[in-house]
Amino acid sequence: MSKPSLLDFTKKELLTLIKPSFRVNQIFGWLYHRYANSYDDMKNIPKALREELAEKYIVNPLKIINKEISTDGTIKYLLELQDGKTMEAVWLKMKDAIHTEDGELVQEARFTICVSTQVGCKVGCSFCLTAKGGFTRDLTTGEIVAQVVALKRDNEHKHNRMINIVYMGMGEPLDNLDNLAKAIEIFKEEEGLCISGKRQTVSTSGLSNKIDRLGEMGLGVHIAISLHAVDDKLRTELIPMNKAHNIASIIDAVKRFPIDTRKRVMFEYLVIKDKNDDLASAKKLVKLLSDIKAKVNLIYFNPYPGTPYERPSKESMVSFADYLINHGLLCTIRDSKGMDISAACGQLKEQNKGA
Ligand code: SF4
Repeated sequence: MSKPSLLDFTKKELLTLIKPSFRVNQIFGWLYHRYANSYDDMKNIPKALREELAEKYIVNPLKIINKEISTDGTIKYLLELQDGKTMEAVWLKMKDAIHTEDGELVQEARFTICVSTQVGCKVGCSFCLTAKGGFTRDLTTGEIVAQVVALKRDNEHKHNRMINIVYMGMGEPLDNLDNLAKAIEIFKEEEGLCISGKRQTVSTSGLSNKIDRLGEMGLGVHIAISLHAVDDKLRTELIPMNKAHNIASIIDAVKRFPIDTRKRVMFEYLVIKDKNDDLASAKKLVKLLSDIKAKVNLIYFNPYPGTPYERPSKESMVSFADYLINHGLLCTIRDSKGMDISAACGQLKEQNKGA
């Protein structure tokens, strides 16, 4: 059976498991400041304590088994867990570094890590490659935390450099809410990675009751809603669980969610040719979001082998966006990052089957 990982625990929990307490401070530093991969790395921890801990806990619950690097700086990772299951995480370059003419660094490059919360997914979206493989299991807290640690380590990204996290990889985050909530708390630990709730965005396909629960937890995170359609018929075709959590119930839950007054709720809208890229849909979208401080992210559908859906034209994307903007909605067209690699969620895992 798989052992728990040290990354499964908050600092408070580690203090109850490991004595004396100053050793916990040292171990926390090894885990989150120096990204230790094994007990051998922890040179200032006595061998006897390392051996005692190694009997009960592993340090790192995953390893990188493949990665694809895009020309735009996106790096897609395939990660293997202790039980041999695999899942993906993505390193996204959001802003290039800025230098003066003399080459002096003015601002470091900005990155976001896209994190998975499950192996596979139960939601079954018809446009999603991950859904094709069905659901295998929830990720543990440590497996969620380890993705950020592994990607920061692999990119030599210092612990105190700013990073954003989006829970937008494989799986429905709110379907694994307890493990996710604990991972969010661990990321926020001041003596660890110190990633505030403001820098963490939970993206959901719209489990309205769990949106309420997330709000009640008071974690201070942002939410993003994968809306993708403005009428229940099409949304149910794209996201079958819309039958149980329809558009009206999601909008109501969003209105109840505690949102930082300076921030907006992100609505993701995957644009698919001849499905939802017409101006009538844009008009309905404006109406639907009229009472919400919202921002719409229009995303090009990235076709993958076997999908019945097609990528929309640039013209329809631009007119859709123009309509929203002209009617007062904040809107961006998402860059299709990593178009030269396996850009669709689940594609790298799919390609590595049997490898
Ligand atoms: S798009 Fe997200 S929620 Fe839908 S099946 Fe894929 S992983 Fe699950």
